[in-house]
Amino acid sequence: MTATPGRIADMAQQHPAAIRALETQAAQEAIRPLAQALAAAQQDATRQWVRATRPGAAMDPGTLERILAAMKRLLATAFRGQAAQAKKTAERAAYNGALLGARQAASIAAAATGLPRPADTSSAIGPQAQAAVDYIPTAIDEEYQHALALLTTATAGAFGGALISGVFNRARRAVTRIARSVAVAVTSAVAAGAAAVARALGPTTRLLWVAEPGACVACVAYAGRSIRPGQLFPGGLTVDPRRAVFPDPIPGPPRHPHCRCDLIPWRTEWHTGGTPLPDLLRARARRGGA
Ligand SMILES: [Zn+2]
Repeated sequence: MTATPGRIADMAQQHPAAIRALETQAAQEAIRPLAQALAAAQQDATRQWVRATRPGAAMDPGTLERILAAMKRLLATAFRGQAAQAKKTAERAAYNGALLGARQAASIAAAATGLPRPADTSSAIGPQAQAAVDYIPTAIDEEYQHALALLTTATAGAFGGALISGVFNRARRAVTRIARSVAVAVTSAVAAGAAAVARALGPTTRLLWVAEPGACVACVAYAGRSIRPGQLFPGGLTVDPRRAVFPDPIPGPPRHPHCRCDLIPWRTEWHTGGTPLPDLLRARARRGGA
C-alpha cells in the first residue's frame, strides 16, 4: 500500500513539531549552566554593591575600584568552562537532529513506496550544523568581552546603581546566542539527515521543502520547491518582500534561526494520482499551514 500525496503531506507537516521539541529541549539544556552561573554571580555582585554603598553618600574611588575588580572576577568565574560545555551539548543535539531527520525522511520514503522503512543509520550533522556548533565559543566570548568592557569607573559613574543589571543583561546576551546557535545546529542537522536518506535512495531522488505550519512569508515561498541533494535552493524567495527576504542560496532549512521547515525525499514516480505532492505542499503553505 502506498500513501496518497495528501497522506504524505500530513505526515511531513507533523515533522516540525518534533523538530521544535528537540530544538527547545536542546537549547534549554545548553543555556542552563551559563544562565544559572550568571544569576548566582549577579546576586553576589548585588550583595557586595549594597554592602559598599551608604544611602546619600557617593562611593569613594577606592571602594568603587574594589567592587569593579570583584565584579570582573565574578564574571570570569561565571563564564569559565561555559563555551566548551555549550558546544558539547550543541554537538550532541545536532547528532540527535541528524538522526531525527533521517528517521523522518525514511518514514516518508516507506509510506510513498509501500516498502519497509530502512533501519536507522547514524548520520553526519553536515557542514551548516558544524559551523553553528563551532561558532558558539566565539559568540560567548564576544558577549563576555562586551560585559567586561562595561566595568570601568566611567561607565560606573554613568550607570550608577544600574551598573550591575546593565553588566549582567549584557552578559546574558551570550545565553541568547547559545540558544540561537543550538537552534540552527539542530535544524540544519535535521535537513542533513534527510539529505543523507535522499542520497541513499538513488540519483533521481529530490529533496522537497515542507514549510512548517504557520511559516513566515519567506519560508512559504520555498514550500513545494525541490533540489537534488548537493544542490542549493535559490536565495531571496518570499511571498512578501516588504516583510522578509533572505538573499543567500541554501542547501535546506533553517531559512532563519528558529525556522522548523524540513526536507523530505521525493521522486516523481512515487506519484499515485491526485494533486502532485509539491503542488499540495505549496497550496497548503500559502493557505497558512495545516
Ligand atoms: Zn522555515
